[in-house]
Amino acid sequence: MKYLIEQTAKEFEKKRTYAEKEAEINKNKIYKEIKELKSIDKKISDLGMQSLQLLHAGDFSNKKEIFAQIEELKEKKTALLKEYKHSEKEYLPKYHCSICNDTGIAGGQYCVCFKQSIASKLYSQTCLESILEKENFENFNLELFSNKAPKGGKSPRANMKKIYQDCVMYTNNFGENSANLFFTGSTGVGKTFMINCIAADLLKKGIYIIYMISSDLIDLIRKSRLSEYSSVIDASFVEALNSCDLLIIDDLGTENATDYAVDELFNLLNKRILSNKKIIISTNLTLNELDDMYYIRIFSRIMGCFTPYNFIGNDIRIKIN
Ligand SMILES: [Zn+2]
Repeated sequence: MKYLIEQTAKEFEKKRTYAEKEAEINKNKIYKEIKELKSIDKKISDLGMQSLQLLHAGDFSNKKEIFAQIEELKEKKTALLKEYKHSEKEYLPKYHCSICNDTGIAGGQYCVCFKQSIASKLYSQTCLESILEKENFENFNLELFSNKAPKGGKSPRANMKKIYQDCVMYTNNFGENSANLFFTGSTGVGKTFMINCIAADLLKKGIYIIYMISSDLIDLIRKSRLSEYSSVIDASFVEALNSCDLLIIDDLGTENATDYAVDELFNLLNKRILSNKKIIISTNLTLNELDDMYYIRIFSRIMGCFTPYNFIGNDIRIKIN
């Protein structure tokens, strides 16, 4: 685990250095184009340093004057950049995370992006980021769903449109009052796609999400109880299963569920519900099929805490590929 943290810290350093180098290159390009700019930037930085030193020494006499000079220089700089059709943004480092500027630390704690990065590795969701680039609300295509409605029923497209709208609203208003979601429907009718859309949107907002395939989750919980894994699996990150903002469990019911696993899962879900932490579950099984498995013991007790959505239609993955 220590290794995982060190490895992630190194990656962050790399990301940060890269962003800063890029910025430096861009800055020099612009400096070449706008001759005066370099000296203006230097003056601003010198004055800033000077004011800091004075303030540190308890000398506030020139504060106003220095700030006025800085202000004046900044105005000049903005005007110059504008004249040459540039902006300062072009030569500021483009960090991945605006909360911690890719340091991984914010407010004396690990930043949510750092935790997310550890979680990705630990919970084998390494490809999450790349999936999320492709599968998000903007790329969602309702046309993939048939608009043929069975007699007296809804067409898959109409059904999906409603789910889509609800899920967009869900991510826009995600917070304490959000519901837990329960997605049912057969394979390939868009459940995982919809989950990815939600995750993509919430990740951008800095929500701490752990996304796990049900069988991996149960495996992780099981291993975390075994001493031989204690050096690999850090307790604080198992604890994150309880405390992350949103826990997504995909493909519930495919794992080989034992009584023990079901109890563990129930404890986890129950704990999260009691502490008002959100959960999204998807399953290919119908409620009746879950009923036949051990799961009914869980869900008869907590189903009332979930908003169910039933996905209908044929396998759309054939159309995508
Ligand atoms: Zn961050």
